[in-house]
Amino acid sequence: MPDTDARILAEVAARRDALVALTQGLVRIPTLNPPGNEYRTLVDWLGAWLEARGWAVELIRAQGAIGDSDAHPRWNLIARREGPRPGDCVHFNGHHDVVEVGDGWTYDPFAAEIDAGRIYGRGTCDMKGGLASAIIAAEAFIAAKPDFAGSIEVSATADEESGGYGGVAYLAEKGYFDPARVQHVIIPEPLNKDRICLGHRGVWWAEIETHGRIAHGAMPFLGDSAIRHMGAVLEEMEATLFPLLAQKRTDMPVVPEGAKQSTLNINSIHGGEPDPAPGFTGFPAPCVADRCRIVIDRRFLIEEDIADVKDEVRALMERVKAERPGFTYEIRDMHEVIPTMTDREAPVVTTTAAAIEKVLGVRPDYVVSPGTYDQKHIDRIGRLHNCIAYGPGVLDLAHQPDEWIGIQDMVDSAGVMALVLAQLL
Ligand SMILES: [Zn+2]
Repeated sequence: MPDTDARILAEVAARRDALVALTQGLVRIPTLNPPGNEYRTLVDWLGAWLEARGWAVELIRAQGAIGDSDAHPRWNLIARREGPRPGDCVHFNGHHDVVEVGDGWTYDPFAAEIDAGRIYGRGTCDMKGGLASAIIAAEAFIAAKPDFAGSIEVSATADEESGGYGGVAYLAEKGYFDPARVQHVIIPEPLNKDRICLGHRGVWWAEIETHGRIAHGAMPFLGDSAIRHMGAVLEEMEATLFPLLAQKRTDMPVVPEGAKQSTLNINSIHGGEPDPAPGFTGFPAPCVADRCRIVIDRRFLIEEDIADVKDEVRALMERVKAERPGFTYEIRDMHEVIPTMTDREAPVVTTTAAAIEKVLGVRPDYVVSPGTYDQKHIDRIGRLHNCIAYGPGVLDLAHQPDEWIGIQDMVDSAGVMALVLAQLL
């Protein structure tokens, strides 16, 4: 191993306690989303930590973005260090929001307790531990190689767990991820320290509504049941759509195995009368349902075109319509994300792969995420394609009770990220 690499890894190792303390500090600020609590507290705390160590810190509120309000403002932080010589900018992006706690914890979710080499708490793994590792990687790299070329940025952003519109999407729209300003992005999401995540599948969310006609439930023949119409839609899905999706296989290295095909989930179904108000003890009224709605969540592959994905569903609805007198429907688009996959030859990928081999002595696995994360905004709005997710933590622990991050895993992945900086800057 060259001298510089050894020196950088020694600087990382010397910061083990600082890495733990930084992670604990972040976890102890309960940035729950929804609704988006304590975002300002977190960026103030982290901003002070970074400023004290020489970073130029900017706090940015995603004013007017989806989710932003005066009660729950969407605060983001970007910190920057310039080297003495010109060069590329490497940007580490971590979301600072965490999901609800849920039941089943045996540790205090916001105490960040250490037990047997792990830190426990909501957001340890997803992804405050990864954010802290990236910061320590940068600190160690700068200490070992203060004459580096280019610049390093760290961002702590809001709302990844709810789509990222008050976070990375907002910053991308403001030009912060313009390839003229940032050339390499690593998102330290918990994907295991020996795996490089190149991208994600696509998403299409839509609401499908069938229409009927209300009538007395004792004389349903005088009305037309939107629920029975929807039943026919669901039958048609079982008979034709699900088998079709199961046949569509991707060459993307999606994990887990089940997500290597196209998938569709029906997120919800609502038909007829709304649920009774809490505390209401009476019976429902006898009515034929005049409306029934489902929300579908279709995950598609890089080999598929979103127009075809939508046409498939429309064709299915048309088949049902041809069979059922009086059948009318609407499809409303809710949300869509195009699949993305960074090229394996992209510089951020090859340098991370080489750094994993140096630090861990193994060749990395390349994976693609079944769901999306903030790379979508960097790719689509920012038009920056040299982006990966790489960070410590076991993906399966995200959003679970007793979430934890391994301290050695954080140190190892900080070493990897520091060596990536050494290669790129
Ligand atoms: Zn995450």
